[in-house]
Amino acid sequence: MPPEQDGIVIVGAGAAGHTTAAGLRRHGWTGRIRLVHGEDGPPINRTLVDTGLLPGLLAVGQIALPPLDDVELVHARAVALDPETRSVALSSGQVLTGEALVLATGSAPRALDPSVEVDGDVPLHVLHTADDAARLRTAVAALDAPRIAVLGAGFIGAEVASLWATGARVTLVGRSALPLREAVGEAIAARLAALHAERVDARLGSRVVAVRSTPGGAAPARVELVGADGALEAVDVDLVVVAVGAAPAAAWAGFPAAIPADDRLRVPGMPGVYAVGGAAAPEVDGAPLRVDHWDAAAAQGAHVAQAVLHDLGLAADPGPWRPTAGFTLMAHGAVVSGRGAWAPGADVTVEAVGDGLLASARDASGTLVGVAGWNAGRAVAEAAARIRTAAAPVV
Ligand SMILES: Cc1cc2nc3c(=O)[nH]c(=O)nc-3n(C[C@H](O)[C@H](O)[C@H](O)COP(=O)(O)OP(=O)(O)OC[C@H]3O[C@@H](n4cnc5c(N)ncnc54)[C@H](O)[C@@H]3O)c2cc1C
Repeated sequence: MPPEQDGIVIVGAGAAGHTTAAGLRRHGWTGRIRLVHGEDGPPINRTLVDTGLLPGLLAVGQIALPPLDDVELVHARAVALDPETRSVALSSGQVLTGEALVLATGSAPRALDPSVEVDGDVPLHVLHTADDAARLRTAVAALDAPRIAVLGAGFIGAEVASLWATGARVTLVGRSALPLREAVGEAIAARLAALHAERVDARLGSRVVAVRSTPGGAAPARVELVGADGALEAVDVDLVVVAVGAAPAAAWAGFPAAIPADDRLRVPGMPGVYAVGGAAAPEVDGAPLRVDHWDAAAAQGAHVAQAVLHDLGLAADPGPWRPTAGFTLMAHGAVVSGRGAWAPGADVTVEAVGDGLLASARDASGTLVGVAGWNAGRAVAEAAARIRTAAAPVV
């Protein structure tokens, strides 16, 4: 006998899952909602893990997402998906079955490339959960003038490196000489790279080849890298933070990469199953597009709530999901923000906005498709309103 369906099950209680649950209630769903959260502690605003929790500016309770009325929070890990019955098996042994199932498990930190030799007992820190932040904070606090290697100079690496620009010796290693150029254009990426060079030991354009423990050495660990000039370099450090990006957390559901979804966020071939947020790659203009930013995940959650209810015959069709959200990054006191697309080949113009910069990207027809700012948040917000909404987003 098939399991009894009971309400709507949402797996993942972050930006996308939380907003899905809130959206279902807003659209009038009165049935049961179960929201599965796979971490200890409350569901959190993850964007504040590095900028709020890690420096000790905020406590976990202050970054918790607001509890939702009449939504059951289930603390467990999902371990398997049965799309036929729309069931999810949990680590607790429980099986949840819904009239609709929304997969919103976000992403997980990528590991170092397997070509990087890691030997010995080197503590490699990542930064994703509140526990990760607590562990890293404790490790840093135990050291006097710690030497920290941050491997990866993308969004999280940039923010983390800038936290300890004083009071510690930070070595920031990035593969690109101009990190984030694809997301914000060359002019703004160059300003960020220059600021990194001023504030930390920036090894941009470098490739890590090994991380070794060095018991009895000058420091507990040694990072070996090939520098921008091709020479082998070594940096002695007390601890290593790996910030080389995040991959979709979808393997538990049988997806080796991002979960595919159509433009209503439905998983193809799995009726009643939907996917949103960092775990998903919905179709935009015929191509899959994964966007792992908070606002985009929240927007997908709001959209899928209506799509689910539409498919159950309870709401109007929300139409195709279109990515329009952006991001904000804070590093060394500078604010980098972006909205819309930076498609390769876009025509980019840059103008001064006070001490900041506003970069605008236009497609071949001259249509504004993306903007990015360096200390120009207001100008970005104003320009964003003129972006063609059909644009693909910053990824
Ligand atoms: C340190 C850090 C800083 C960031 N800063 C920014 C920023 O400044 N701006 C920005 O736009 N974005 C930022 N991001 C990215 C942003 O947090 C994500 O894009 C966003 O949280 C994605 O939302 P989501 O709902 O898909 O996933 P999440 O918000 O990560 O939520 C995932 C949910 O799924 C649960 N889960 C995962 N696996 C399982 C499982 N197997 N079983 C059950 N539950 C599971 C988790 O416990 C959680 O409840 C940052 C990310 C990190 C890690």
